[in-house]
Amino acid sequence: MIKVENLTKSFGDLEVLKGINEEIHEGEVVSIIGPSGSGKSTFLRCLNLLEVPTDGKVIFEGVNIADKSVNIDTHRQKIGMVFQHFNVFPHLTVLENITITPTLELKMPKEEAEKLGCELLAKVGLLDKKDEYPRKLSGGQKQRLAIVRALAMHPDVILFDEPTSALDPEMVKDVLDVIKGLADQGMTIVIVTHEMAFAKQISDRVLFMDGGYIQEQGTPDQIFNHPQNQRTIEFLSKVL
Ligand code: ADP
Ligand code: MG
Repeated sequence: MIKVENLTKSFGDLEVLKGINEEIHEGEVVSIIGPSGSGKSTFLRCLNLLEVPTDGKVIFEGVNIADKSVNIDTHRQKIGMVFQHFNVFPHLTVLENITITPTLELKMPKEEAEKLGCELLAKVGLLDKKDEYPRKLSGGQKQRLAIVRALAMHPDVILFDEPTSALDPEMVKDVLDVIKGLADQGMTIVIVTHEMAFAKQISDRVLFMDGGYIQEQGTPDQIFNHPQNQRTIEFLSKVL
């Protein structure tokens, strides 16, 4: 579904991604772990061109979306993204947060969008909040809304950037359960996370990033129980 070739990204003199080659397959759940500042978010943001790569290719469903002649908007609709800080519109109700993008960008009729929105809200336990404004929601509820907003666009893949890092501990599980549900349904997922137990549980593959490269990758068992790379070993010894 996504193939990355020799992806590099610099901010001024700082080379953050130094040549990444990677493939994400349909239906796969891929977790990205690694120290703070290692380029995890930058890599994720390059996958949907929120950051423009300095060099290399990002081939999404056969099209190199890093090519400047490509209209990114139509492709980006197929790539959902959920950030650490819940990206919801404060001035719209919960239901309006969900319906606005499908009605504007996909020209979905309002009634259909509302029906879809209510179905999705019910699935994440938020239907009773549909007419509230986001300020009335807890962090965990806002994050579940952010996930539903992404789902309403029927994405082919969802990118999660530390979706639970800004949550109070008691809210983490509800959000992880929603993500786990998506994984169980076969959604293609790329997730940057510090929740190692969760990564171990849901991932088909785990990537360890450090120093601008994917240093090591493998199954959760390979990475968490039998890491080979010295940097992976050091990192895991600090976080496990
Ligand atoms: P991680 O998500 O692994 O913590 P990031 O991808 O956020 O790492 O950042 C990697 C490096 O790139 C850091 O040194 C960070 O300061 C730098 N960086 C990230 N975004 C920008 C930006 N927009 N401008 C300048 N430097 C940035
Ligand atoms: Mg980050």
